[in-house]
Amino acid sequence: MSYIFEPPRQPSVAIKNSDDRFPVHRIYCVGQNYAAHTREMGGDPDRTPPFFFCKPADAVQEDGTIIAYPQMTENLHHEIELVVALKAGGKNIKVEDASNVIFGYGVGLDLTRRDLQKKAKDAGGPWDAAKGFDQSAPISAIIPKSAANISLDSQIKLSVNGELRQLGSINDLIWSIDETISALSTLFELKPGDLIFTGTPAGVGPLFPGDVVEGSVDGVATLKVCIGN
Ligand code: MN
Repeated sequence: MSYIFEPPRQPSVAIKNSDDRFPVHRIYCVGQNYAAHTREMGGDPDRTPPFFFCKPADAVQEDGTIIAYPQMTENLHHEIELVVALKAGGKNIKVEDASNVIFGYGVGLDLTRRDLQKKAKDAGGPWDAAKGFDQSAPISAIIPKSAANISLDSQIKLSVNGELRQLGSINDLIWSIDETISALSTLFELKPGDLIFTGTPAGVGPLFPGDVVEGSVDGVATLKVCIGN
């Protein structure tokens, strides 16, 4: 058997202090998982069940990349997020078992074409074009769980050209990491290589060509990308 053309390259993410790489299976994202962000998007942050959307695995981009300003938008937004990287999976994972499937953590940007998202919301249409475009998931190197120093007090933040735009703490998550893994596994069979973007704190806003975007989660990682033309 041979393929009719060279198969696509396996998308992957760097692992901190290692030459090994994390092969990406799928990218799942949680919508509105911080109360203040839910309010700024016009939603109600009561604990309604978490909702999920996906990005293609090859949307991942390395720390330090220049991200081309995407097509068909005039309102590209930043969303800084804690990313959970899975080393195992399963269906219907119990909350108390969820931490067993975690390989490590990173910090990622859920880049969003906000104008296309608004159109999709208004029309009741899918979010793929708003969320799943090329280069829409820059992510730091992943730090293995054993080396990470993450706690509920860890701050998550993002600055643009040195100006602080987003600030929150992991304690602000409406659905915890373990609850998110458990809920997601009721919808999909999770697999090693899955990445979960866990939602963004308040302060999302527009990016422009030339912007330098820096994000971090204390005890996990930092991420820096530039927006190109
Ligand atoms: Mn997001």
